[in-house]
Amino acid sequence: MSNILKVSGIVLSVYPLGENDKNLTILTKERGKIQVVSRGCRRTSHPLFAASNEYVYGEFVIAEGRVMKYLNSAEIHMSFSNLRESFESICYSSYFCELASYFTMEGQEEKDILNLLYLTFLALGKKLLPYPLIRRIFELKILQCHGMGIQSFFCVHCGKTEKLRYFSFEEGGVICDDCRQIAEGREIDPQVLYVLQFLGSCRINEIYSFTLKDEIFLEFEWIVKRFFKTHVEHRFRSEQMLEMV
Ligand SMILES: [Zn+2]
Repeated sequence: MSNILKVSGIVLSVYPLGENDKNLTILTKERGKIQVVSRGCRRTSHPLFAASNEYVYGEFVIAEGRVMKYLNSAEIHMSFSNLRESFESICYSSYFCELASYFTMEGQEEKDILNLLYLTFLALGKKLLPYPLIRRIFELKILQCHGMGIQSFFCVHCGKTEKLRYFSFEEGGVICDDCRQIAEGREIDPQVLYVLQFLGSCRINEIYSFTLKDEIFLEFEWIVKRFFKTHVEHRFRSEQMLEMV
């Protein structure tokens, strides 16, 4: 006897299995990241053909056996097929999926990261912002969802909320003028600080609502990149592809 699950989620990755099947990794709201076998779906006439693809967002009905899970049916809400149309958007989407996979696990509700990924796919598909800016915002927000966000509202040493003019990568946030004597930190541009504070406090559906002047973006990018590398030791396979675009 198998248990039937109904979950909503996004297909993060797909691997061929045998001649006709695929193994899907789906990030679900209810069960976190799960592995599901989609049987027969490689035949174009099969009812699961369209749903068994990367980036598809929808509802999935799954039979949970003792060892494996099998996809019974799916209702596609958004196929995000436009993300599979250019090399550039494939590279970015794969990277976002790899990060979402890294930061989630099975058996845990993953509503926030799923929502972040969904909004990120919408922003990519509509080209709302330059892709490199979407990338850095995504990296910042996924760390925040994971409890590793940047502290941008008060000094990480003394808790003061004024004269926040320095940033410490190791300590994960801003440092005030007074604490600069005892703590290491590099200067941070007030406009970049404002961007960090905005992203730390805005509603999730507002994160892709702004663009930045080139010089502000470069500073913001540098800070997020270094902060991410300081706190996440893992190296992502799809990051190498991103360097080619
Ligand atoms: Zn301080």
